[in-house]
Amino acid sequence: MNISELGEFGLIDRLAKKIQLRNASTVKGVGDDAAVVASGSARSLLATDMLLEGIHFDLTYVPLKHLGYKAAVVNFSDIYAMNGFPKQMVVSLGISKRFSVENIEELYDGMLLACERHGVDMVGGDTSASLTGLTIGVSVLGECEPDKVVYRSGAKPTDLICITGSLGSAYMGLLLLEREKKVFEANPDAAPQLAGYEQIIGQYLKPEANRDAILNLREAGVTPTAMIDISDGLASDMLQICKQSGVGAHLYLDKIPIARQCLDMAKEMNFDAVTAALNGGEDYELLFTVPLSLHDRVKDFGRVDVIGHIVEAEKGALLIPPNGEPVRLQAQGFR
Ligand SMILES: [Mg+2]
Repeated sequence: MNISELGEFGLIDRLAKKIQLRNASTVKGVGDDAAVVASGSARSLLATDMLLEGIHFDLTYVPLKHLGYKAAVVNFSDIYAMNGFPKQMVVSLGISKRFSVENIEELYDGMLLACERHGVDMVGGDTSASLTGLTIGVSVLGECEPDKVVYRSGAKPTDLICITGSLGSAYMGLLLLEREKKVFEANPDAAPQLAGYEQIIGQYLKPEANRDAILNLREAGVTPTAMIDISDGLASDMLQICKQSGVGAHLYLDKIPIARQCLDMAKEMNFDAVTAALNGGEDYELLFTVPLSLHDRVKDFGRVDVIGHIVEAEKGALLIPPNGEPVRLQAQGFR
């Protein structure tokens, strides 16, 4: 069977069905941002993510230091999405012969900077020769109090759907870098036109994992009922919460925060900014749900927007425009 017949999520579901858990300490296996493991009275969180040259990044416009930073924080983001804090990380590198020692040091400097900013220790890994360019595999171990772990599965009808930050910038940044690459390939003397687009480019090249949002939630005494980080796009990630929680969701289009520079770029490129926000992915903001009764506490957070509410499963997962027909949310994933 071709993998394209199943798609990414179908493949994962099929593989996950074969798994048998054997240890009482495995609290949660496949199906969330991180696995949850009981260790003494605490919970350990375990997440992994792989970045492949030619699939996830293009070194013609991605600096190695930024790439290292991103490889680390996308993993930290999965730990924050469980309401925990990343503590240790291991990294595996596949390195082809066109990379120098200095190149790999640059990559490493980016990872170590991310570790410094997020209070994480780099504790090991592996390196290997590679025939197919650069491969970066990062695994992160995090911690959380047992009663504070947040899964994708706890959303209930009437819960508010909240999102940190704004969406769409990373994807528009990628489209801009791809456009400038084509211009450069056609005419190597042409200077890239990137001025004024620092926000979207930065969001793509050097995203940040939202540690502050978790600190804010803790400080406010709010434990979300469900949470996920936006890696595949709002639509896909919202559907993950719906699937795991057995609920539907109504999102209001005019409430979805889209960065101004994303809107500007979308207009310039004649691209739909809403598509970038819903399906672009790689924003690494946090999507979470809280009981309706916590509305007052959440609305006072900086950079958190309420974008809809959870409904019963039979009411569907819908995007509702201010005028016009609701649209069904569609999942992405590679094919
Ligand atoms: Mg995730």
